[in-house]
Amino acid sequence: MTVTADQISRTLAGVNTGLFIGGQWRSTQQTIAVEDPSTGETIAQVADASPADGLLALDAACDAAADWAATDPRVRGEILRKAFELLTARAEEFALLMTLEMGKPLAEARGEVAYGAEFFRWFSEEAVRISGSYSVAPSGGTRLLTMKQAVGPCYAITPWNFPLAMGTRKIGPALAAGCTIVVKPAALTPLTMLALGQVLAEAGVPDGVVNIITTSSSGAVSEPIISDPRLRKLTFTGSTGVGRSLIEQSAQRVLKVSMELGGNAPFLVFADADLDRAVDGAMLAKMRNIGEACTAANRFIVHESVADEFGRRMAERMAALKVGRGIDDGVQVGPLIESKAIDKVSELVADATDRGGRILTGGDTTGERGYFYQPTVISGVSPDSDIFAEEIFGPVAPITTFVDDDEAISLANATEYGLVSYFFTENLSKALTVAERLESGMVGVNQGIVSNPAAPFGGVKASGIGREGGREGIEEYLETKYVGIAL
Ligand code: NAP
Repeated sequence: MTVTADQISRTLAGVNTGLFIGGQWRSTQQTIAVEDPSTGETIAQVADASPADGLLALDAACDAAADWAATDPRVRGEILRKAFELLTARAEEFALLMTLEMGKPLAEARGEVAYGAEFFRWFSEEAVRISGSYSVAPSGGTRLLTMKQAVGPCYAITPWNFPLAMGTRKIGPALAAGCTIVVKPAALTPLTMLALGQVLAEAGVPDGVVNIITTSSSGAVSEPIISDPRLRKLTFTGSTGVGRSLIEQSAQRVLKVSMELGGNAPFLVFADADLDRAVDGAMLAKMRNIGEACTAANRFIVHESVADEFGRRMAERMAALKVGRGIDDGVQVGPLIESKAIDKVSELVADATDRGGRILTGGDTTGERGYFYQPTVISGVSPDSDIFAEEIFGPVAPITTFVDDDEAISLANATEYGLVSYFFTENLSKALTVAERLESGMVGVNQGIVSNPAAPFGGVKASGIGREGGREGIEEYLETKYVGIAL
């Protein structure tokens, strides 16, 4: 189904582009231009918050905090459930909006709406399962009671690559736990989060419980919020570099943080792997979101006996992908987010080939406008290439080989990151031992995707602190209070 110009203008016109503070939409004098990365054209202007606006949003979150924490868990859960239903009912509108501002193909944007909405459903169910414990002290006498309480006002900073899901993954558990929140989406993709604000208000989220600010000065606006003693938690998804600086700022106040940071996922193919499944998994792990995912397979580490065949099949599949505007029929690969991203991917590919890598397909930009890069496979990549050390964030699959399991694991773990690892083998005992030895917060075995709202998402090493989703997700927004009771 082709998207019409009328559909596009209605979808864009339906978004309130002000700041959402205390249930009110406020305009600002300055605005930020939002660009469609597939054309380079401006599609909207949104409010540009100042540091003072940021603090107004925090005021609203603080004013609403006590009442929201005291709201019955069932009521909090039902509001989240309603938000899930509204979001699901408007899936097409949200998908189109995301495709327009971020570039991902419509089919993938629809997938993100389903995934993002699911966090509201999952946490609507978790809201009523918050519990503490009661025990007798080992020495007898004293009784040990633990209770879980909402952390308090939170500040969430989200990236551009998943404009909806990275927000719902924080808003869902925060609201379920009884916390209020200020959300700051990336300036590159603010529209989806603003549209979500409208859905949340309609679902019955009280004024001030969720506040949304968009700004072109993320550092200047965030700093006073983070240093304000009323803020109780910072939850961030983005690059490791920015995460490090936010941890430093938070350290001044010993502020509770959750950090979902960068990745450099290894994708291991053992000699006994089912190659059909491995190639399917590789395409998903590499090409989901145009390769612009923290979970994207960044390093293909393939047993030398199957590497040529794996590379050949990958190149065939990659070359067959349709590249184009995400709104066009049948498109599987959209543009990268901005021209800087094209420069970075081009530099990484050049370094890999300078060090001996051989391009099996792709290797260049494409398209007359917008920021498109060809799906690319490079074989014989030297493990000390920059492409193996940095997040590619683009549709490029670099392949290297290994001889034995120890070498595979050591190559896989040779990174400061530790978000996710993937591997393919048909041997169960190998699967268990390899999963244990990989230094990452998540492991995909014989599958190229791990994201699931019912599972704890998060990394080790420089990939982050904390988990989102699963049973663990709500814990990030709860404090444990211990009460000792003498009999
Ligand atoms: P980014 O540059 O770190 O930006 C992330 C967010 O931080 C944006 O909202 C950005 O706003 C804001 N920001 C930037 N500088 C800031 C500062 N000094 N103070 C406060 N906020 C600041 O990352 P990105 O390029 O948007 O996203 C890609 C990165 O996110 C990749 O590294 C990817 O791996 C990671 N990621 C991780 C996960 C995960 O779950 N682990 C999920 C998705 C993405 P502005 O852009 O408006 O300045």
